[in-house]
Amino acid sequence: MKVQHVPGSDLFEHVRERLRSIGPRRRPARVEREPGAAVEVEEPAPDLVRLLCAVSRWCGALACLIGYHGLLGWAFDIDLLRTVDVGLPPIQGHGALAAFLTGGALFLVQLPTPALPKGSRRPLLAVAGGVTTLLALLGILVALGGGEPGPPIMTSVSALAFLIVGVALLVLAAFKDRAAPQILGLASGAIAIQAVATYAYGAVPFPGQMPLYAAVAVLLVSVSLVFIRADEGFMAKIASNSFGGVMARRLLPATLLVPFVLGGLLLVGLRAGLYPLEPGLALLSVFTIVVFVAVVWWSVNSLYRMDTQRRQAERELKETAARLSRSNADLEQFAYVTSHDLKEPLRAISGSVQVLQSRLGEKIGPDAEEYIRHTVDGANRMQTLIDDLLTYSRLTTREAPLRPTSCEEVLAEVLANLEVPIRESKAVVTHDPLPTVPGDPTQLLQVFQNLVSNGIKYRSERTPKIHVGVEDRGSEWRFSVRDNGIGIAPQYADRIFKIFQRLHTRKDYPGTGIGLAVCKKVVERHGGKIWVESEPEEGSTFFFTIPKAPAE
Ligand code: ADP
Repeated sequence: MKVQHVPGSDLFEHVRERLRSIGPRRRPARVEREPGAAVEVEEPAPDLVRLLCAVSRWCGALACLIGYHGLLGWAFDIDLLRTVDVGLPPIQGHGALAAFLTGGALFLVQLPTPALPKGSRRPLLAVAGGVTTLLALLGILVALGGGEPGPPIMTSVSALAFLIVGVALLVLAAFKDRAAPQILGLASGAIAIQAVATYAYGAVPFPGQMPLYAAVAVLLVSVSLVFIRADEGFMAKIASNSFGGVMARRLLPATLLVPFVLGGLLLVGLRAGLYPLEPGLALLSVFTIVVFVAVVWWSVNSLYRMDTQRRQAERELKETAARLSRSNADLEQFAYVTSHDLKEPLRAISGSVQVLQSRLGEKIGPDAEEYIRHTVDGANRMQTLIDDLLTYSRLTTREAPLRPTSCEEVLAEVLANLEVPIRESKAVVTHDPLPTVPGDPTQLLQVFQNLVSNGIKYRSERTPKIHVGVEDRGSEWRFSVRDNGIGIAPQYADRIFKIFQRLHTRKDYPGTGIGLAVCKKVVERHGGKIWVESEPEEGSTFFFTIPKAPAE
């Protein structure tokens, strides 16, 4: 099938080009075909998401390596593989296994499909999460029973942290929800940071504290959990280029690192006897304030710049919109006046030629008669085009306020108007009970009439069957006009609603290509949407929505 344009005068060519050129320039980020749910949101920055996912992958791999290291230490009884310093508690066998499994699973599930067989991601996460949860529960039970954890059993804090990690992996395997694993990752990360800080500050670990290797492994697995789906959950906001995202990316690392590092420095100074505790604390407060003021100032500057740019873009957009709408209004006025003024001379041409024909009677030969027929035919087509164009431009130049309109009555009038084509084509037109909607009766009549008459016009070999349906969609009515005609190839589904776009030659099916453009304009004026679902040879269903409460 080929898209055809109705050959028209230069004026129509010009008007068509102008109408096209003032169409919307950019589609919003997310547009849904069905009306209602189109929402524009600040998408996460793709480069940042990729980076965070890579961090997640490699944190998983490192945690797996630490677990492997610990397992080797237990297998060959080598202390240095189980702990950094022989004086510190070693990673327990169960802890090492849990780190190996969870880290390994988080690394493997992020590999692309050929490297990891399809369908194995969920089982992998479920097994690693399940085993880790069981090992952690065992550790907790032993701790609650007051028993000393034996060599393989996790200490109580390790058990708590790995329990959270195990559950997070199970949630990741079973549910689509990405926020829950991220929140669980934050919780296990907080426990790990506390343990790492204990060792970093050289404090004596309390009984049940996580061994250093276990703490580092849990920290890595937690980071992996938080970043694994950096484009979803709360990470989507942090990874976006919105004001909130930029602010979070500046402030969160500072909030996490500054107290940790400054606390360590304070301790080093105290231990070296550089200052007593009180002035040391005062120094810590001053440094903390200075660092945070610097970070906040840095963020404020960036946000200020972004805000200024955004405001400027908004102002430019508003000016462009105002220019476009002025040009649109001028153009519609122009199209209306011109089409109106064209009708008169056209009628004169067609009338004069017909008078000429009747006056000359027998005297004109068959050739002249043929030319006269062509002239009258051309004039009639031009007349139809002008009428359709007038209808189209009248839609905005003569807008009546919306009022309760009975679609039953509108359809009855349409069926009366189409009595002749319905009778001639033996079409069967049925309909659901139709509601009363806030609308412009004259314009709604044009919509129903165009859709029903197209259903008859674009019929196939079968007897035309047209059904006008309606569905209550809560805040709006969704009307449908279904036919069993020749159908439309899906790639033309959007194009046919543009003015002058036709899929057939005038020889096959007469028409101007304005009817559906009129329908679209009317439906949009009522606050609704129009679209078609169709398969060639199967028939078409045109849908349009009319809100129950008109937009302000
Ligand atoms: P016209 O019917 O005057 O050509 P329309 O704007 O009503 O203009 O329709 C535009 C094009 O969409 C038509 O030329 C036709 O190719 C296609 N079309 C519209 N309705 C149907 C339908 N019910 N079945 C098949 N094709 C259709």
